Amino acid sequence: MHYISTRGEAPELAFDDVLLAGLAADGGLYVPKTYPSVARGDIAALAGLPYDAAAARLIEPFADGLGAGVLRAATRDAYAGFSHPAVTPLTQIGDNLFVLELFRGPTLAFKDLAMQLLGRLMNHVLEQRGIGATIVGATSGDTGAAAIDAFRGQSRVDVFILYPDGRVSNVQRRQMTTVENDNIHAIALQGTFDDAQAILKSLFRDAAYRQRLGLAGVNSINWARVVAQTVYYFTSAVALGAPFRKVSFAVPTGNFGDVLAGYVAKRMGLPVSRLIVATNANDILARALATGRYEPRGVTPTQSPSMDIQLSSNFERLLFDALGRDAGVLRAAFAGLDQSGGFDIPPDALASIREDFDALAVGEEETSAEIARTYRESGYVLDPHTATGVHAARARLAVDPSTPVVALATAHPAKFPAAIERAIGLRVDLPPRLASILDATERFCRLENDEGRIRAFIEDRARATRLTAKV
Ligand SMILES: *Cc1c(COP(=O)(O)O)cnc(C)c1O
Repeated sequence: MHYISTRGEAPELAFDDVLLAGLAADGGLYVPKTYPSVARGDIAALAGLPYDAAAARLIEPFADGLGAGVLRAATRDAYAGFSHPAVTPLTQIGDNLFVLELFRGPTLAFKDLAMQLLGRLMNHVLEQRGIGATIVGATSGDTGAAAIDAFRGQSRVDVFILYPDGRVSNVQRRQMTTVENDNIHAIALQGTFDDAQAILKSLFRDAAYRQRLGLAGVNSINWARVVAQTVYYFTSAVALGAPFRKVSFAVPTGNFGDVLAGYVAKRMGLPVSRLIVATNANDILARALATGRYEPRGVTPTQSPSMDIQLSSNFERLLFDALGRDAGVLRAAFAGLDQSGGFDIPPDALASIREDFDALAVGEEETSAEIARTYRESGYVLDPHTATGVHAARARLAVDPSTPVVALATAHPAKFPAAIERAIGLRVDLPPRLASILDATERFCRLENDEGRIRAFIEDRARATRLTAKV
């Protein structure tokens, strides 16, 4: 499988290069040249398979250069540390309403499902090539923790994570700052997640810097993460009767990586009815689907900080398809975003997006009320991100009660104890294996929102310049 950039001006790459690249050199995102299709019989045959075996089967066509043995070993290892034998258990909380628990990994958020695998695959490629890499990531909370856990202690990799100071939860921050390995650097940026992402994009666009440091991206723009996330759409749909029955998904959305994976699963042949994008007050996607205008506004802090994002990077991949893969039209749209703060999605493209997607913005009050309602009706405790998805799922079931809706549970409620306590007066404890972070010493650097400063900070500390120079 080969990969092309959405902006049409970067070289075509194979999977192992895309794995390391993150953002394409032209500022675009890599997408596969075509979507591999999974036959109905092969979807049906996933029933009853262990999660890691299903993952290897589904990811293989995207990663053909890697060798099936490497991928199989990586999936086995990546999911062995999850706290449930099903890896992503499915729980029913209402009529045709299911919660898919994606938070059973080491950092209690769905990011672990992709990041644990990405860490192993990246390490394999670096070892094979005898080089090192510098991972620079921006996080609204959970990506950073997941990346740090996946890469800590790896000798070939230094990790620099930028998070918006004061805008992540106490548990999220401590997961990043209490790791002792000296290849890990947590940076508290004096700015928003969008500021962090802008700095990151700019570093990746500087070819010389990127080359010198062996910059590698692990944000949700990394295609390997999207692919890893398609797996649970398949396995949960199959558990509910796919391919013989359609299923809808409600997805708490920020950077659009998770729900994009659902779209890719559908393009691969999974019979998905609706993909329901749930946002919080940061509702650019809900507005874009309703009006056709893609226009970021300021970021509003909410109780679901991992969704406090205005510029949803992965939306570019969907838009690319919706525009008939015309990179020129896509470039013009993003030029409009830079120059005039927004663009209008062409009517045909908007219509094609609406064929697959619904979107709903869920306010703070509604989120708390949903946590309370679900707890009252089923005894199940939702985290605030998941609550936006469950709220949107219920809205869908009111229109179409006969198609099952799977609401993706993206974080464990113990990551956001204040929001839970406010909604239902219950104190949720961290699982024992994580409790120690609450009184461990924190290590981080607070840096201004200044690209030059951050660029120098990373260059001073990255070891990849030396590792790479040896080759
Ligand atoms: C990252 C994250 C999201 C948003 O996922 P995207 O792929 O960025 O849309 C939602 N909920 C939680 C808990 C997250 O960590």
